[in-house]
Amino acid sequence: MVVRMKATARILNGIEIAAQIKAEVADEAHALAARGITPGLAVVLVGHVAASEIYVRSKVKTCAELGMFSEMLTPPESVTTEELLELIAGLNAREEIDGILIQLPLPARVDTRRLLEAVSPEKDVDGFHPINVGRLQSSASHGVEAGTALAPCTPAGIMEILRRSGLPVSGQHAVVLGRSEIVGKPVAMMLLNASATVTVCHSKTVDIARYTRDADILVAAIGRPGFVTTEMVKPGATLVDVGINRLTDAADVARFFPGDVARAAQFAQRGSTLVGDIDPAAFALAGAYTPVPGGVGALTIAMLMKNTVQAAKARRGATAGLSEAAVAKA
Ligand code: NAP
Repeated sequence: MVVRMKATARILNGIEIAAQIKAEVADEAHALAARGITPGLAVVLVGHVAASEIYVRSKVKTCAELGMFSEMLTPPESVTTEELLELIAGLNAREEIDGILIQLPLPARVDTRRLLEAVSPEKDVDGFHPINVGRLQSSASHGVEAGTALAPCTPAGIMEILRRSGLPVSGQHAVVLGRSEIVGKPVAMMLLNASATVTVCHSKTVDIARYTRDADILVAAIGRPGFVTTEMVKPGATLVDVGINRLTDAADVARFFPGDVARAAQFAQRGSTLVGDIDPAAFALAGAYTPVPGGVGALTIAMLMKNTVQAAKARRGATAGLSEAAVAKA
């Protein structure tokens, strides 16, 4: 008699992968420091959005841990677009600043697009400037190793998870749910550059399950709790869950995490817990998946640090007497 054992899906641990990347970035920062270059990041945080303040503090702290310099600029909520443009021009001109990050969202009356486009493309460590978007599109690689583009951090982190986990991308059917500028579109482009066959779905797509059921790699980035159900997943697929959704209703927690004592305890203690865009029940069917939390989300700051060092090497490597080969190696 043949007994079929249910294979256990592999968990793609974003925290471990982020730690590897941070260790590599710290080595690179150390090598640059020996040549008189301390990679520097400026973070612009307007007003007092609690979540943004937490993110920014964490970015500043990580810079310090990896031997990088950082500066936080905190204009008041009442700041105008013109004043912010002046501030960015100043940062563009400063030699010791390699990366400029404008923490989003900005107040509604500020012209976000104009500000993002004012950041020098060489210092655009978020990868949102049209020049970097264009470079990513024309890159032969996924833009992380190629060194040709500063790629947006979350999509670049997804590619690192796939690459470092040895998961095949070339020739695979990758289905991306979501077409935002910060996740869906760039990750679709990176997957295409890595020779996947890519389908992008969005809110106007008719019968999404028809596409997801055929996905070898499914990237969900729509911000809808547990949207992707077990029936929508191809057995053995790689599931990449980008969604970060806070559950505050006990019934939702019980629905998504039935019998999960640890989650129930966390919810009882904090009054909320996180779920991604994929119903956790679907993970059982996957070949590999990124958990929420502890998956994709863990990579974003690590990739920001990697971009900052890359920007420092590209802009200042030569002035420190590094040959092109040494810059690439440093
Ligand atoms: P976004 O800008 O709101 O874009 C959402 C996208 O999902 C849009 O393209 C929208 O389609 C699509 N969509 C919404 N509802 C849909 C539905 N029912 N069916 C199909 N498509 C639907 O969101 P985002 O900034 O890309 O973020 C997506 C999720 O990722 C959020 O949960 C966010 O918190 C998370 N996130 C995580 C990280 C991280 O891990 N570090 C970083 C960024 C974002 P249309 O274009 O047609 O409107």
